[in-house]
This record gives sequence, C-alpha cells and structure tokens, in this order.
Amino acid sequence: MLMSCDATVQPRQQTLARTAMISGRGLFHGVEARLRLLPAEPGSGILFRRVDLAGKPEVKAHVDNVTSAPRRTVLAASNGAFVETTEHLMSALAGLQVDNCIIEINAPEVPAVDGSCLPFCEAILEAGLNIQSAPRDLLIIDESQGVNDRAGEQWIEIIPSFDGSTTIDYRLDYGPQTAIPSQSFSVSMTPEIFLKEIAPARTFVLKNEVEALQIMGFGKHLTGKDLVVFDTDGSVIDNKLRWPDEPVRHKILDCIGDLALNGQMFVARVVARRSGHKLNHVMAKTLSTITLRQPELQWAA
Ligand SMILES: [Zn+2]
Repeated sequence: MLMSCDATVQPRQQTLARTAMISGRGLFHGVEARLRLLPAEPGSGILFRRVDLAGKPEVKAHVDNVTSAPRRTVLAASNGAFVETTEHLMSALAGLQVDNCIIEINAPEVPAVDGSCLPFCEAILEAGLNIQSAPRDLLIIDESQGVNDRAGEQWIEIIPSFDGSTTIDYRLDYGPQTAIPSQSFSVSMTPEIFLKEIAPARTFVLKNEVEALQIMGFGKHLTGKDLVVFDTDGSVIDNKLRWPDEPVRHKILDCIGDLALNGQMFVARVVARRSGHKLNHVMAKTLSTITLRQPELQWAA
C-alpha cells in the first residue's frame, strides 16, 4: 500500500517550543533513564548530552559517531561518552521533522518506552514545535545510491523523487518457514502519516532470540508486554499486534531513525529489503558524503 499526500515540507528549521520530558528503562540494559528534550539553536542538529557524567559530555547524533553494536544503534563520541539504542528517539524526531534538539540523558541507554516511538512523539508534540528563522537545507537526491549485504539478500536504495515527496518502501522477508511472514509497506513521509502509520509500531523479536539475548545478559527485565515476541508458531506471546504487518512498519521506523544520522533532511524515494541497522548506517554514511545541493529546488518560504 502506498499512502500518498501532498509533498509539503516545512521550509524552515524546527525545534521544540518547550522542554519535553520522558523516562523509563532501557531496552537492552534495563537501567532507568530520564530524558529532557530541549529546544536548540538553528544549525545545532540533534545532540545527546550525558548529564550523569562529569563535564556533561555531548555526543552528536551523526553517522560518524555510530559504533558497532548488534540489534541497535549506539552513538559514541571521541570524548568517550556514548548513548545506546538511539534509533527510536531519532525516528520520532525525524518523523516529526525536528531539526534541532539537545537531548539530556542521565543514563547510558534511551528508555524503551512501549517498544515504539509513539511516546516520544507524544512528549514532543505536547511540548510543541517552534518554527525557526533559518531555512532548512534539504538534500535533494538526484542520483540513485544503493548498498547491499549478505550477497544481495539485504539492500537499500535511495532513488530520486520525481514529485518532491519522500517515501519509504520496505519489504521484510525472512524466507520460508519463519515465524514472521513476509510483508511490505510503503509510506509517504509526512509527520501526520508517520504519527498514524509508523510511530506506534513496536520492536519485535523471536522467542529464541530473546532467550539468546538474555543468556548474554541483555533484556533480562523484559516480558512479552514490553515488546512484541513471536513464538515459533507465529503467535505473539502475552501481547497483541497493533497491525497484522506491525513488524514491517517497525523496520521502517528503524530505517527513518538510522537514515536521519546522515545529518540532514533529504528528499528521495527509499526502497529497502531486509535492511537492518548495519546497512541503514552504511546508507546514512553515503548520504552524509553527498555534497551536491540544489537550493533552487527548495520550497519557497
Ligand atoms: Zn527498532
């Protein structure tokens, strides 16, 4: 399904109108964390600030700070500070088109909330958005870019958009005889559609993956109510899906959060098949190195 709508992008940068607050335990480590999302000056981008560490070191939300970690996005700065599981919060900010924000956090990992990014969106919208005077520098993709992994089983492509809209088209396909059936979803990236169709989609795992992760010491505090756990027969343990295709929608949520690490909003058609955090980061890096700008194609103020 392709959800279509007018290609309207706010031509000026946005930040929060007031401070937003949210707290909860991290997905992997279960440590209670408190977040304060603060308004930031134009051109600041998204910046994490570890207020629990001496000197309150900052970590820029940029692909150059991504450090290798399985199943999540971890950002680490050269000053030694790091923040784990940033992708859902980044997706909320990108989905709502927030350009500038300082995220104060008093722990190493972003709260898991309900496994989706809807609670982050709700906190941001409750604080309100403030349109800033500086124009938004849109990256208009005019040449296709593609990366792949696992001999082409996983791939992600960025293709020029011919109508000025940004869309994401994702296919999840783990092959035959898997607990999660293959599914596809396409979405046009407006804040309204993001809120309704993507933001509520929760993290999912297979039961045997949970067991393996817990043996490694991760997610020991989690139950089936904290995220979507698929049993081997495809049923969901102690929970209920929000949509039959909730997994593919969550993969789009992750993709939006990871690609936002390229540092600026882009206009393109994204087509992905089985792409996970690792491949999303490679594409974010590719996007970050594109220097071509076409200001004449930006929306008029
Ligand atoms: Zn996720």
